[in-house]
Formats: sequence, C-alpha cells, structure tokens
Amino acid sequence: MARVFNFSAGPAVLPEPVLAQAAAEMLDWHGSSMSVMEMSHRGKEFIAIHAQAEADLRELMGIPANYKVLFLQGGASAQFAVVPMNLLRGRSGADYINTGQWSKKAISEAKKFCKVNVAASSESEGYTRAPKQAEWKLDPDAAYVHITSNETIGGVEFHWVPDTGSVPLVADMSSHILSRPMDVSRYGLIYAGAQKNIGPAGLTIVIVRDDLMGQALPVTPTVFDYKVQADNDSMSNTPATYGIYIAGLVFQWLKKQGGLAKMEQINRAKAALLYDYFEQTEFYRSPVARDDRSLMNIPFTLRSEALDDAFLKESGAQGLKQLKGHRSVGGMRASIYNAMPIEGVQALVQFMREFERKNG
Ligand SMILES: *Cc1c(COP(=O)(O)O)cnc(C)c1O
Repeated sequence: MARVFNFSAGPAVLPEPVLAQAAAEMLDWHGSSMSVMEMSHRGKEFIAIHAQAEADLRELMGIPANYKVLFLQGGASAQFAVVPMNLLRGRSGADYINTGQWSKKAISEAKKFCKVNVAASSESEGYTRAPKQAEWKLDPDAAYVHITSNETIGGVEFHWVPDTGSVPLVADMSSHILSRPMDVSRYGLIYAGAQKNIGPAGLTIVIVRDDLMGQALPVTPTVFDYKVQADNDSMSNTPATYGIYIAGLVFQWLKKQGGLAKMEQINRAKAALLYDYFEQTEFYRSPVARDDRSLMNIPFTLRSEALDDAFLKESGAQGLKQLKGHRSVGGMRASIYNAMPIEGVQALVQFMREFERKNG
C-alpha cells in the first residue's frame, strides 16, 4: 500500500509503526479481547494505558514532580478560555504576546475574562517575527504571560524562553511540543492540542505547576477546573480514551527514536533542507525572519501566485499532499512534524527544484 507524504498542519501525519500497531491491536488489545475504544476508562486495562502514557510523556519531556499532566478535551481553543478561568487567581489582567493568528485568537478569548495587555506584537509586520524580549512591555501585576511558542500558520517559533520573573509563563505549544527538548520548569503552564505533533484530534494535553491550581473562577466548568481534573487523574469525566492510547504509542515511538534530543537533530536536518534551499533560490521565499523560523511549519511563497495551482496539482500528483498555505499567508506551507520522515522533505525539495527548473 502506497502512503503519501502528508504535509498537513493538523490533523497531521502519524508515525507509520504507530498506525500499524493500532491496527494490529484494534480488535484485541493485549489479550483483553476488546478494542481500547470499548474499554471502561476506569477498568484496569485502560488505567494501565493511561498511566504508561503519562509516565512516558514525563520521561520524554523531563517534567518535574511538582507539575501535573492533564489529558483533557476541547482542543487548544478551549484552553484559550480555560487558562484565564484557572490562572487569574484574583488578579484582573494578563499579558499576551501577539505573534500570529493563534495568539490573536487566544487574546480575543481571554478578553472575555480579564483585562488583556498585549505586551508586544508583530501584527503590523504581518506576523513575520517574534518580538525580542527587550521590546516587551510587561505588567508586573499580570496573572501570567501568554505566548504562542510556535505559530502554526505564520511559521514563527520562539527559539528562546522568555524571562518573566515570578509571573508564570504560559505557552501554547500545540504545533511544536515534543519537537525538541523544552525546559518545563521555565513555564507555569504548557498546553497543546494533540492533532499536530502528538496524536489524533480530541485530546488536549495540559502540563501545569501545582501551585497555580485550586483558584479557578467560580463559573469554571468542572471538567475544565485543573485542580479537579488533577485530583481525579483527568477522569472527572470520561477522557478521550482512544486518543490517549494513540498518544501513548507515539510517546513510545519517540523513546525508540532516541528521545527529544535526537528528534531535535532530525527536525533541524529536515528544516534545513528547505531553509537552505530558500537561500539558494529567488524562486521560493520564506516570509519569516531568519532567527524565528519554525522547525515544524514552513510557509513559503512562489515567485508568482499564478504558479500556485500548478505547484499544488503537480506536487499532489507525486504524492506530496496538503501543501496549500493558510489563506492569511498565501503560497504554500510544509508542516514537517516529528512523524514526517526526512525522505518526505527530500522528495519535496527535489520536486521544488524540478518545478523551478521548468517554470523559473
Ligand atoms: C491548531 C492550533 C490551535 C487550535 O487547536 P484546536 O484543537 O483546533 O482547538 C491553537 N493553537 C495552535 C498553536 C494551533 O496550532
């Protein structure tokens, strides 16, 4: 069976061995004579799957003991509201850094709950860079500082961790969590929807420091109260059981690859194939400032928009799929998450060279 190279921004490519294992275990998980989808979330089989997934994620990311790992639902978009509901802790405002479409959505949702101070923004520059910390105007009384550490649409990534002193740093890591080692202890809270770099849509991972929980706004829905979910091992209600199972298989796959330091090496090599090529050609162009270019989501434009349709049609015919850029940026976008093999990026660059030769 031929599989395509899938450059979708999300839901996105998954490691083939994970899909194969899930298929093999579909009707009978480990002699249980049940599919994981059919198991009680409170039964011993699923509790073991859940515990293993959490342990593997903790090991991969080096999550300190004073942080809870929550497996929730609602996507990163739900967290845009759930974060202020839980983290305001009696304060009236929060700082947000606006680096793209996803920060902007997080900001407009947070405005329903608190005063939002946009401490820095690259909106007027078309979201092509991450503002340096020296440009930030932080509010010392802010409840937290929120960044979108990888902007999936614009392809802008923080390659540094901001220093927010005693104010907790909150990061939407949806599209680059697990792409490289991250120092979790520098953050108060990390959240990520699973469907970019972890597993299927429907699962949302939250990593939260103990002391930030327990002061949710009274209106907070119980299933979105971090403390309630932490006290109930994310089972205050039925969690996304199958998503947790697949995420767990992905964590084991990552450990087998050599962990996140190894993934970073591979991801840097993959991204360099495209970024180095942009340096050699005027036919393709990255809109993003060099220092802030994402290793995961790589938008690029062609010399003329009139060539976009032909590029998509011809690349698609060669099994290079879902390369169309977001409408707000135009052109193309190659999302090259952990599960995209380097062969996929090599095939893309080879196609791009050939397309340039014919149309350049
Ligand atoms: C995809 C994405 C979201 C939204 O995720 P949903 O699961 O659709 O809510 C939020 N932030 C970032 C950075 C994303 O890439």
